[in-house]
Amino acid sequence: MVAATPPFFSSLSPRAHPWASFRHNQLSLCRTYSLSLLLPPGLYSSELSYFFHSGLKQRAKGLAMSAKKSYEVQASKQDEGRYKHTIDLPKTNFGLRANSIVREPEIQKFWEDNEVFKRVVDRNSGGTFILHDGPPYANGKLHIGHALNKILKDIINRYKLLQNYKVQFVPGWDCHGLPIELKVLQSMDQAARNDLTPLTLRENAAKFAKETVDLQMKSFKRYGVWADWNNPYLTLSPEYEAAQIEVFAQMVTKGYIYRGRKPVHWSPSSRTALAEAELEYHDDHVSKSIYAIFKMVSASPASHAHLEGFFTNLCLAIWTTTPWTIPANAAVAVNPALAYSVVEVYSVLEETAVSPAKQSRLGGILNNGENKPFIIVASDLVPTLESKWGVKLIIKNTFLGKALENCRYLHPVDGKECPVVIGGDYITTESGTGLVHTAPGHGQEDYITGLKYGLPILSPVDDNGNFTEEAGEFSGLNVLGDGNTAVVKYLDGKMLLIVEEPYKHKYAYDWRTKKPTIFRATEQWFASVDGFRQAVMDAINTVNWVPPQAENRISAMIASRSDWCISRQRTWGVPIPVFYHVDTKEPLITGETILHIQGIISKKGSDAWWHMSTEDLLPEKYRSNASKYQKGSDTMDVWFDSGSSWAAVLGKREGLTLPADLYLEGSDQHRGWFQSSLLTSIATTGKPPYSCVVTHGFVLDEKGLKMSKSVGNVVDPEIIISGGSTKDGPGYGADVLRLWVSSVDFTGDVLIGTQILRQMSDIYRKLRGTLRYLLSNLHDWKPGYSIAYDDLPKIDQHALFQLENVVKNVKDGYDNYQFYKIFQILQRFAIVDLSNFYFDVAKDRLYVGGSASFTRRSCQTVLAAHLLLIVRMIAPILPHLAEDAWQNVPFERVAENGFVAGSVFELRWLDQNERWLSMPAPDVDFWGSILELRSEVNKVLEVARGGKLIGSSLEAKLYLHTSDSATSSRLQQMCKAVQEADSLHRIFITSQVEILTSVDEVAQSVEHQGSYTNQANIEIWIGIVRADGRKCERCWNYSPMVGMFAHHSTLCRRCCTVVSDGQPLQAAAQV
Ligand SMILES: [Zn+2]
Repeated sequence: MVAATPPFFSSLSPRAHPWASFRHNQLSLCRTYSLSLLLPPGLYSSELSYFFHSGLKQRAKGLAMSAKKSYEVQASKQDEGRYKHTIDLPKTNFGLRANSIVREPEIQKFWEDNEVFKRVVDRNSGGTFILHDGPPYANGKLHIGHALNKILKDIINRYKLLQNYKVQFVPGWDCHGLPIELKVLQSMDQAARNDLTPLTLRENAAKFAKETVDLQMKSFKRYGVWADWNNPYLTLSPEYEAAQIEVFAQMVTKGYIYRGRKPVHWSPSSRTALAEAELEYHDDHVSKSIYAIFKMVSASPASHAHLEGFFTNLCLAIWTTTPWTIPANAAVAVNPALAYSVVEVYSVLEETAVSPAKQSRLGGILNNGENKPFIIVASDLVPTLESKWGVKLIIKNTFLGKALENCRYLHPVDGKECPVVIGGDYITTESGTGLVHTAPGHGQEDYITGLKYGLPILSPVDDNGNFTEEAGEFSGLNVLGDGNTAVVKYLDGKMLLIVEEPYKHKYAYDWRTKKPTIFRATEQWFASVDGFRQAVMDAINTVNWVPPQAENRISAMIASRSDWCISRQRTWGVPIPVFYHVDTKEPLITGETILHIQGIISKKGSDAWWHMSTEDLLPEKYRSNASKYQKGSDTMDVWFDSGSSWAAVLGKREGLTLPADLYLEGSDQHRGWFQSSLLTSIATTGKPPYSCVVTHGFVLDEKGLKMSKSVGNVVDPEIIISGGSTKDGPGYGADVLRLWVSSVDFTGDVLIGTQILRQMSDIYRKLRGTLRYLLSNLHDWKPGYSIAYDDLPKIDQHALFQLENVVKNVKDGYDNYQFYKIFQILQRFAIVDLSNFYFDVAKDRLYVGGSASFTRRSCQTVLAAHLLLIVRMIAPILPHLAEDAWQNVPFERVAENGFVAGSVFELRWLDQNERWLSMPAPDVDFWGSILELRSEVNKVLEVARGGKLIGSSLEAKLYLHTSDSATSSRLQQMCKAVQEADSLHRIFITSQVEILTSVDEVAQSVEHQGSYTNQANIEIWIGIVRADGRKCERCWNYSPMVGMFAHHSTLCRRCCTVVSDGQPLQAAAQV
């Protein structure tokens, strides 16, 4: 390694232990040298045979065997090693094995010690790029989803660094909320819990959150993620809390915050209200559903004529999956446009297969006194209900639902009269009876209908989900358990129950406790989304959503969402800065009071809300009345915390601006962070906080199943990197994990598992092998040796054409966030274009072409171009590999702008090289056809090898024939190419190629032949015979000239020229 290390870079110490294995290989290389001198280049040791693509292994084996024979027959003691010094073996300290577990942390230390990230940001001049980090929750270890997320962000950031952007990436953590509060509570015994004050709980929660942040930060760093790790944002820091309260204050000032009694998702198991984002919907929830009847007492004027004859035994039939809400019933709602009928329950259908329980109930109702019951149901549902109830129903009268408005019925529990009301489109004939039991305290639609009619918002249920005294005889019973059963039993006893049956449906669960939630009306603080919904919808159109369908997703969610309940009855969070009047309970909340509290919190943190007196928390002018107020005890929804990060981070920190260039999170954040950030930002600034949003899917196991501890299919990123028990496999290092991240189409759900990781590791090794080939064959290279493009052999110009196309497509992949395309392009490029072709053919030029020969230097020119572009292309995805390679570059590491690049990230992405791309289309096509021909030739060579005609392909002479004269003459020209590197026998790695005008002339002698029709529909015949002449001791090519040179009787003409003249400048001169 000769590259100058700039003085400001401390050494990365490339000769630390990772290279131990390499030294070992070098030793073994020396030991086997006497034999291996006679092996063709590339086979000097088992290790170097790596350079052969696996498909050529067979050939290598054959070569080794025949080499041994040759050695026995030909080599004499004094000749041994005679030409050794004339052969240019590959040389590098860059190991084939990554040794990632040791090497990656060394590279990370090198970046950290030298502040490479900061240095590059400071130097870059192409504008600022801000990816705003969505804060993971500071609770527990990171999982594979976190790894996917942060690595995607890092790939983008590193690419933007190479694109000359000043990349700003402030990592964040979400530190408040119930799960941490629960963790703290769970870690205490009962006695400690009894002594717990809000402040000690908060102290413990803060400690737990900070410890988790440290733990997670360490893991993120190990993934190779670059960020401003010294200055992360934590939602528990005073300056963050103060900024959040400022956002809240602005929303209060604009009139978007209100207090209301409204049904909210309530988790009895967590004893708090939940936001939509805190719910998960279980498909297999089974509810107790009932059909029940409510007795009518009076008709409305509009329905009088329709109903007159059916009193006094006329009923409304309703259906509900939450019988426990019946005590809170306030109305029955109908759809004004639907047809309803009065039906007579005629008889129980004997033939219907209904359960005895159903029959007895209906029988009971039928036998109830002398009057037959008449029931009102939606007309369309009559047949369904007949079969559900197991009865015959006779329609007596039919009318529109609007006629029923203002009819009155008796509340089934408390006996008060309640109205029939007009509900909305939510009333259909898809299920139920077409009449909806309405409890405004327990349902969103019911609530809205209740507002319209001024219905009471009853909610006789407490925080634990138990009925309150207001529920009378049900008081104390749990609504999700015995309370529900008691209500059903009650109705049955009153002859009001028609059918009870289990009903499987989708139901909202608390995502943390995994327990069912209920709708319950409580006094809560709300953000009025209605107040700024249209502005949010308009803003969505201005954001670039990737993938594009995300736009519909978030639009639909915003369009249909209700107001945002932002208060929580918990301790570990930012307080809702409100005071209540002791007597009137009126809230005191103004811009002035909030800003006063904000000032206190910015200095002392939100603990001040708990340890300071009401007097001190109130602004001066209220202090004399402080005894009339008490502070509120609610905290803010944590989504309000994280949803204010744009204000607390981008709006406050130096060098950061709004909107962010990019938000990138999992697709679940459409109803989480993407949404809460958008709502707070639009409500206060009128603008979205981001200009682009990228979403990714979830990580599933190899079979596409969700990962779970109980199934045992969890893939732990830490084990992928550092290894675990034997069954977990080896530690692959962060780059293999990152390569996996790049390989998946992250816009959908992605898979990971042992097989996939093994594949990734193989591909990583191939990429590493590609770099090693390049580095090892440039050990004597200096940029000044470059051959001008126009002087390069065609094979080299074609290689550069392919390289530049790859660069162009890779750039497109980065620009469009389609990293899996980059992964595919690079994999194909390394294996098909380089390893199988260019590198394979180049070995002859590089090893035996003569150290300073034109053919070798032109090849090195191409290799150096590949090295410099491949390290750039892989650097965002495989930063450790790219850096490792860069540190082993054997020539001066000067970037194109003249900077000495101590780190690979000090390079910049290059402008498109139009010269390289300018290869004329016919030439590109011709080279395509040569490559196609080459693979056909290889097939015939393989057959010849199988038939023991040849071992090495160099033992073969190749005949080609085609009746297409243009093709024939073009091939003929290529046999005598001006540039030796372009000649056909070099490209096919055979000793000779002859183009025949007729197959007949050789038909007798050819043992192995084949033919194929190329894409231009031209048939080409291929024949193989043994090569003419004897084998050159130095290069293993066969030639009739071997033996004709006096001083070098075992060499071919080319080798003779190389060893005697030293350095012929033009390869052409040798032909
Ligand atoms: Zn030779």
